[in-house]
Amino acid sequence: MLVVMKMDASPEEIEGVVSYIESHDLKANAIPGSERTAIGITGNIGVVEKGLFESLPGVLEVIQVSHPYKLVSREFKPDATVIEVGGVRIGGPDLLIIAGPCSVESYEQTLRIANHVQSAGAHLLRGGAFKPRTSPYSFQGLGVEGLEILARVRTETGMPVVTEALDIDVIDKVAEYADIVQIGARNMQNYTLLRRAGRCGRPVLLKRGMNATITEFLLAAEYILDQGNEQVILCERGIRTFTEHTRNTLDLSAVPTVKKISHLPIIADPSHAAGQRDKVIPLSRAAVAVGADGLMVEVHDKPETALSDGSQALLPEQFEELMGEIRLLAAVVDREVPNAVGS
Ligand code: PEP
Ligand code: MN
Repeated sequence: MLVVMKMDASPEEIEGVVSYIESHDLKANAIPGSERTAIGITGNIGVVEKGLFESLPGVLEVIQVSHPYKLVSREFKPDATVIEVGGVRIGGPDLLIIAGPCSVESYEQTLRIANHVQSAGAHLLRGGAFKPRTSPYSFQGLGVEGLEILARVRTETGMPVVTEALDIDVIDKVAEYADIVQIGARNMQNYTLLRRAGRCGRPVLLKRGMNATITEFLLAAEYILDQGNEQVILCERGIRTFTEHTRNTLDLSAVPTVKKISHLPIIADPSHAAGQRDKVIPLSRAAVAVGADGLMVEVHDKPETALSDGSQALLPEQFEELMGEIRLLAAVVDREVPNAVGS
């Protein structure tokens, strides 16, 4: 943090700011300039409130120079965090592929789709048991029955599962069944839930809110790390823009931006970004090309009867085609697609 003094600030005002900083157990480093003096503040453990200094006599402005996040940043931990799930080391050279239906609809539907995506090479099975739906009249998910189905399908196929914890009432239950607990876009700023995710004992897949800046996204992850859980996988899933040709806009530049600032792995979800299946393969290619550590893709064998998000679900044969393309691309970007469990 840098406190910039007004041009006509008196020595007493400068001294006043220095003493005020020091009274907060911080170090004041005065930097006299040809026109004005700036005072750098160091020694802070957490974030220092700008407002503390803004109204002091002689102060022109206060500039935040260090990031508001800490635990998620590369300044704090320069090496990439690698999270191991289902034989894949996410955040290293491996590309993690998560696939499955939007919602768990029945045991048969989930098992059929799991078999398809597993034989094509997916590492993890996705499927919502608790669904965040825009309308209260839409299918809300099978709840605990859905979790039980996922667990049965995992036993059958050997595929680890990722599923969403919609609120604090269900997160412990979800963590009992899931290999990775998902926090959805609509909950990215549900701070109570984020804290609980930090204590759930499972890796967390944190989706970016549809109107969240990168700073807000990383601060949401910071909540989870702050509770002692370092195993956070970020997920860019598209943000709201003025466009009407897709459901959301996949913010591809978020991937290299996050990778530069943070040591956490980041994957992309082109399904919720596009909203239409014909755009999922091109966006997946683009996400891998910009350095995403993996993909999360919705797949359904009967999308016309799917209980949610049928229009964005790839057909099993399209998912197979996607996997072929990702394997080719991986070599170009120095990544690997490890073999899936049981495939
Ligand atoms: C999902 O992945 O099932 C989902 C609801 O996604 P999002 O939170 O990104 O909308
Ligand atoms: Mn969905």
